This record gives sequence, C-alpha cells and structure tokens, in this order.
Amino acid sequence: MSPRNFFIGGNWKMNGSVAQVKSLVEGLNKINVPAQTEVVVAPPALYIDRVRANLKKEIGVAAQNSYVKASGAYTGEISPEQLKDLGIDWVILGHSERREYFGESDEFVGEKTAHALKAGVSVIACIGEKLEEREANVTADVVTRQLKGVADKINDWTNVVVAYEPVWAIGTGKVATPEQAEEVHVTLRNWLSTNVSKEVADSVRIIYGGSVNAKNAAELATKPNIDGFLVGGASLKPDDFNTIVQARL
Ligand code: PEP
Repeated sequence: MSPRNFFIGGNWKMNGSVAQVKSLVEGLNKINVPAQTEVVVAPPALYIDRVRANLKKEIGVAAQNSYVKASGAYTGEISPEQLKDLGIDWVILGHSERREYFGESDEFVGEKTAHALKAGVSVIACIGEKLEEREANVTADVVTRQLKGVADKINDWTNVVVAYEPVWAIGTGKVATPEQAEEVHVTLRNWLSTNVSKEVADSVRIIYGGSVNAKNAAELATKPNIDGFLVGGASLKPDDFNTIVQARL
C-alpha cells in the first residue's frame, strides 16, 4: 500500500445537466472522506460554480482544462486565475482526450501546468501511452517524454499529482492489471528521482486512471506506487465512486 496520502479524482468529462449535477452533488455529499485521503471532482466548466457552492468542503473541485494567460482575447478559454476567483483549487491538464482531439503537445501541457501552479491552482497532470505504443514496447519512452514536458517547465512539484492513464484503458472497460500499472508508476518515480530529485520522486502522488471501477479499485490500491485513481465513467455513479474512495481502507 502507498505511504503517500491517497488521491481520488473524478473526471465527469462533457457529461451532466443541471438535474444530473444536482443529484451527483447530493450523492457526493453523503461520502465520508477517509483520513489521509483527498477527493476532487471535475465537472464540466459550465457547472463548476454551482458544484463548488453546493458540494461539501471536504471534497475539492477541479476544472478539466485551463489556459496559459490570466485574461484577454482568448475566446472560449478559462484562466487559472478565474478558477481561483471561484474557489476552484485544482485543474486536470494534458488529459489524453485533449492531447488527441485538441492537439495539445507535451510542451503546451507543461506551459499550462506552470501557469496554473503560478496562479495557485494545483494540477492533475495526465500522461499515458496508446495501444500501439504499448505493443511497440515504447511505453516507458512515451510516458517519460510526456512527464519531461511538465518537468521542463516547473520547479516545484508540491502541488502536482501525476495521473498515469494508458489510453487503451480509458473508457474501454479494459483496466491495466495492478502489475502493469505498478510497473509504469515505478518507471515514472525512477525517472523523477534521476531527473528531478529523490525527494520529489518519493513525495509526488502518481495515480492510475483507466476503467477503474468499484470492483477493481481495491486490488489496484494494494500496490505501493499507486497513490490513488483518476476515475471517469464510475465517477458519475456516487455509490461506485464512494467504493473507490474507500478502496484503500
Ligand atoms: C479518464 O477519463 O480519466 C478515465 C480514466 O476514464 P474511465 O475511468 O471512464 O476509463
């Protein structure tokens, strides 16, 4: 089991309506957040304000993206400074769906991470290989290259959580085995130890994402380098999400 505080993120993606968000918040407010566990949910930007206003304070709220400027003529974008203004303390950056559909590069994800941290917003930085990359045995190259994109732009990792999310496992129901996930988490920690510092490698939370559900979370949570989860589909079901939050107990 991981010696670091457990971190559970719920990524709602582009899902929800006023009615569904209300019922999700009601469900989340019934969750008992265990000690040494941090829980953060990421609603679509439109609903962030109402979620923060109605969700209990023991649960954090994240945006699913933010930009590299504080304000200005950037139609459609949201700045970390604006998130801060609404009491939003977290942002998910570099999710594979943003890399794939919106062409976000490693460098841009690094820039967005640096800007969010500077504005006082903590970052869930996502990395992960595609199926063809795993099959070509380049998983370690891909994930360390993506991590370097972040490492090149920041000095302080205190407010960063790294989410390892193999693309082939996201939304597919095909979860990585605990051994597969642990192997990559160890690779990432070793890379951080060599290229950043041992202190950062020992303290940074590396969470796993990709078809985590109420049935598989407890076994994944037994691994010493899996410090929690980023959860998509199952985060839209409060009972299942609660089971995942309690997975390490
Ligand atoms: C995600 O989008 O971050 C994710 C892990 O999705 P799912 O849990 O649905 O695979």
